[in-house]
Amino acid sequence: MINQDRLVQFFMDCVQIDSPTHHEGQFAKHLAGVLSEIGFSVRFDDAGEKLDSDTGNLIAKLPGTAAKNPLLFSCHMDTVSPGIGIKPHIEDGVIKSDGTTILASDDKAGISALIEAVKTAIENNIPHPPIEIAFSIFEEGGLHGAKNLDFSQFQSKKAFVLDSSGRPGQIVIQGPAQDKVNVTIKGRPAHAGVSPENGISAIMIAAEAISKMKLLRIDSETTANIGRIEGGGATNIVPADVSIFAEARSLNNEKLNAQSEHMKACFEDAAKQFGGEAHVTIERMYNAFSVASDAAIVKDVVRACEAIGIEPFTTQSGGGSDTNIYNAGGIEAVNLGIGAQKPHTLEEHIRVEDLVNASRMVLELIKG
Ligand SMILES: [Zn+2]
Repeated sequence: MINQDRLVQFFMDCVQIDSPTHHEGQFAKHLAGVLSEIGFSVRFDDAGEKLDSDTGNLIAKLPGTAAKNPLLFSCHMDTVSPGIGIKPHIEDGVIKSDGTTILASDDKAGISALIEAVKTAIENNIPHPPIEIAFSIFEEGGLHGAKNLDFSQFQSKKAFVLDSSGRPGQIVIQGPAQDKVNVTIKGRPAHAGVSPENGISAIMIAAEAISKMKLLRIDSETTANIGRIEGGGATNIVPADVSIFAEARSLNNEKLNAQSEHMKACFEDAAKQFGGEAHVTIERMYNAFSVASDAAIVKDVVRACEAIGIEPFTTQSGGGSDTNIYNAGGIEAVNLGIGAQKPHTLEEHIRVEDLVNASRMVLELIKG
């Protein structure tokens, strides 16, 4: 029932409307027009003002034609860099960019699959529940748009996030929490040749701390990494300042607390040992989520996949998505594979077959 040509054309049009993070406005306006035309009431929230974007999150609602529970579908409108002037083309059934930009199938494939599915349901008079849509801004780099959503405006108890890079059939039911760990180490400068004993080396404090730290794979659920270290200057000066940027993740919120505190303690202990100072900030970017593999929302997706002849499977993600924010906000959510392969790279691509299957899967979810 899905109109493949129309879907592909819609997708190609979407990726050619630039929407880098903070500049989602033009694309949002395009989507608002399309959704209004097919019967949605559309509004924007005030997240754009708070987040310095030229639009807020797009919220759209379509009344149901069947007495069923409302469903929420979510995608993000912003794209990573380089994503300006995308020129898509189709080669052997695969949609690609010209190699100088990303493709932006992350997440415009999700948006396109969803809109085509809803159009199809409406045109074919398929009874559907009330449909709620949230298209977020500023997802890339911190899920900020979703964090600013007012969840009380939704009636839905279930949310399907269409934003996983797996092929249709993939159901992400677990995602990690993440902490940003930023450190400023203060030592004391001194001439390295004349009076090094008067100095306190911030680099030596950092080295001591990091050498004592549990990093990389901590356990099956937990990881940690020092991503960047900056500091020092001329070789004849004992370095007084070092900045360190690190992260930790875990599928278990308590384990993440423990890992981040461990990292903090290593820096503080080393600073104390050398007589310097370590200022450590731990920022929880988002909490972990876990949906039971036999939850009703998972069964809904399994049934939808089986109805169109694709193999459903559950998995966990190593990264954050708006799914984390929905679950934390009290709306049970899973992240579904839509076939956007190699996102955030110049080799990003999507098979036409996967785009169509993503849309067919959404249509089955709508049918219920
Ligand atoms: Zn994405």
